[in-house]
Amino acid sequence: MSRFIDLHTHTTASDGTDTPSQLVARAREGNLAALAVTDHDTTYGLAEAERAADGDPELIRGCEVSVRATFGELHILGLWLPPDVRLLEERMEDLRRKRTQRNEIIVEKLNSLGIPLTYDAVLHEAQGDVVGRPHIARALIRGGYVPDEKVAFGRYLASGGAAYVPKEVLEPVEGVRLLAGLGATVALAHPMLARCSRPELEGIITALRREGLDALEVWHSEHSQADEAYLQALARRLEMGVTGGSDYHGGTKPKVRLGTGHGGLRIGLRVLEQLKERRARQGLPV
Ligand code: AMP
Ligand code: ZN
Ligand code: FE
Ligand code: FE
Repeated sequence: MSRFIDLHTHTTASDGTDTPSQLVARAREGNLAALAVTDHDTTYGLAEAERAADGDPELIRGCEVSVRATFGELHILGLWLPPDVRLLEERMEDLRRKRTQRNEIIVEKLNSLGIPLTYDAVLHEAQGDVVGRPHIARALIRGGYVPDEKVAFGRYLASGGAAYVPKEVLEPVEGVRLLAGLGATVALAHPMLARCSRPELEGIITALRREGLDALEVWHSEHSQADEAYLQALARRLEMGVTGGSDYHGGTKPKVRLGTGHGGLRIGLRVLEQLKERRARQGLPV
């Protein structure tokens, strides 16, 4: 029986809408062989996910770290995080504090634009400790200030929007070194969503590879087949590993399904086996 995996998912620990237990239950329903939980800038969902999974599906401890780029942000996945993630959590906690300050400024800006949104209303939309623009968008919709998320971002929250505030994130080198230093497999998430040219992207990957970036996320809900082919060839050329996941967020991105993305995503167990073989060659535990 061939089985499938999903190595990029979010829970209520960040901006997903399934609790870690609900996510694991859904993975089981979908007959996934392995699941990586990769919340934004936090590892707080991992313990619950591991307890719920209890070995089936195989649970890979991960996280998705945002780092700076000239065009906005890049996302870096750390897979196979060790049991002790204090070093990572300390850094993330500092960033989360700055995130809260940023969220408060966004709300103040909205207030000065005549929208009487409270920060409590934003917190009401979040269940975990990583609160961000998707939660502000939901609060705006619930308050009847915008019809949908598209308008919330376009009018107010996206870069160029009336209440936009940039987010303080790690430098790419720091993010990669932090994860690599913990013995994680470090992968560039959804490379084709980077708002830069292919030569620029390849320059970034080549530079970060020297710091410990070891894989590319070839399969992702927003990648086309041409993207997949390009990234696979690039990974081969740079002797990097390949990974894939749906970037499932539950109701935050209702069109993206766990395991299958927009419907056509199928990531075979072989991808996981190859990543593990790679880690074994590097002397890293799985
Ligand atoms: P934050 O970390 O608070 O900056 O929020 C980032 C998240 O907001 C991303 O992971 C996306 O899910 C969401 N997001 C960013 N830009 C948009 C957009 N234009 N439309 C909808 N969602 C967006
Ligand atoms: Zn997200
Ligand atoms: Fe991402
Ligand atoms: Fe993600």
